[in-house]
Amino acid sequence: MDWDNQFAERALKMRSSVIRDMLALTERPDVISFGGGLPGPQVFPIERFKKACCRVLDENGELALQYGSTEGYRPLREWIASQARQYGVKVGIDNVLITNGSQQALDLIGRVFINPGDLVATESPTYVSALQAWRVYGARFISAPSDEHGLVVEKVEEILKQRPRFLYVLPNFQNPSGTTLTLERRKQLVELAQRYQIPILEDDPYYPLRYEGESLPRIITLESAAQPESDDVYNGNVIYTSTFSKLLSPGIRLGWVIGPAPVIRKLSVAKQSVDLNTSVFVQMVANEIGRSGFLDEHIQIIRACYMERRDMMLETMAEMFPSDAVWTRPEGGMFLWCRIREDIDASEVFKTAIQQNVAFVPGEPFFPNGGGKNTMRLNFSFCTPETIREGITRLGRVLKQVEYE
Ligand code: PMP
Repeated sequence: MDWDNQFAERALKMRSSVIRDMLALTERPDVISFGGGLPGPQVFPIERFKKACCRVLDENGELALQYGSTEGYRPLREWIASQARQYGVKVGIDNVLITNGSQQALDLIGRVFINPGDLVATESPTYVSALQAWRVYGARFISAPSDEHGLVVEKVEEILKQRPRFLYVLPNFQNPSGTTLTLERRKQLVELAQRYQIPILEDDPYYPLRYEGESLPRIITLESAAQPESDDVYNGNVIYTSTFSKLLSPGIRLGWVIGPAPVIRKLSVAKQSVDLNTSVFVQMVANEIGRSGFLDEHIQIIRACYMERRDMMLETMAEMFPSDAVWTRPEGGMFLWCRIREDIDASEVFKTAIQQNVAFVPGEPFFPNGGGKNTMRLNFSFCTPETIREGITRLGRVLKQVEYE
C-alpha cells in the first residue's frame, strides 16, 4: 500500500518536530543534553504524589476512575479560577477549561481559530511546538522581532494591521530565548490589541519559575483591570494558557486555559472529539495537591535548584565559550539563548557536538519564517550543576574548534 496516497492532505502537512528528531540522537546515556525542555527529575514530588493518589482513591475512587466532563473536574476549575482572581482576573468557572497539557490548548486554539491560509502573529523566535501545531491548520506566520526585553512592541502595530487571527506571546522567560517582556511593553500590547481588536494568546508555563527580580503582572491581569467593574466574569481579549508541567510534573499532562466564556465553550466542543475528557484521576490528584498549599513550599525548592543550575551554566559559559558568542541572562524559566559568530551554522556545530557527547537545540526552527542559523537554545533545568559544568566545557571546546576550522 502507498500510504502517502491514502493520507489526508492535512496529514501530509504534518512534520515531525525537528527538535524531537534531534533529541532522539541525544538519548545515549553518555550524551550530556541541554536540548530538551525537561524539568529536573530531582524536584519531582514523588512522595507527595503517592499520598495524593492514595487519598483520592480511598476517598473518591469511583469518581476518579470514571469518565468526566470535557471542561474538566469542577473543583480543579474552581481552584484555578480562584488562583486567577488572586492575580487580578475576574474569573468564574465558565472561564476555565482543563486540557491535556497546555500543548493541547495550543492545538485546540488552532482548530478553533485558524482557517487554511490565515495569518497568525508571533514573536521571532517563538515556541516551536506551537508553530508545529498551527501549521497543520494551514497557518501562515507573520512575526515581530525580539530583543533582550522580549517582543519589540513597536513592530507589532504593522503586523496587527494585517489582521492576524491572534497574537501569540510568551511574556515570561520565553521559550526559547529566556527573555521577559517589560511592564511597559505589556501595557502597550494590551492597548494595541484593544485598538485593533485582535485576541492575544498568552502562553505562560514558566511564570512561577522566577529566580531574581520582581514578578510582573500577566498580560491578562493588565487587560482585566481595563474591564468594566460590573463584569464579574472574564470577558476580555486575552486567552491565557498555563500548565502543571513545570510545577508538579510534565508526565501527568495537565494544563488549562482561561478565556472569555464563548471561547472556552468552543474549545470544549473541539476537545470533545479529541479525547472526551482529561484524566479525572490526574485532575483530582492535582486538585488535592494544589489545595493543600504544598505548591507554595515546593516552588521554593524548584527555584533554588534551577537558579543554581542557571548560575553554573552562565558562569561556565563565561569561562569556556568563544569571546564572540553572546547569550541572554534569564531571570527565570528553563532556557537561555546563545548567538554564535554570524557565519557559523549551529546545526553544523550540533553534529560535532554530538560526536563529543554534548547536545543543544539549534535555534533556526524557532523562527517562524527562517533565519537564526547562528543561534542555539540551552536548557539548564535538567542536568545537575556538575554535569552542566562538564557539558558546557565540552561545548565551549566544540565551538572554538568549529571557529578555528
Ligand atoms: N508552551 C510553552 C512555551 C512550552 O515551553 C511548553 C512546554 N515545553 C508548552 C507550551 C507545553 O507544555 P505542556 O503541554 O507540558 O503543558
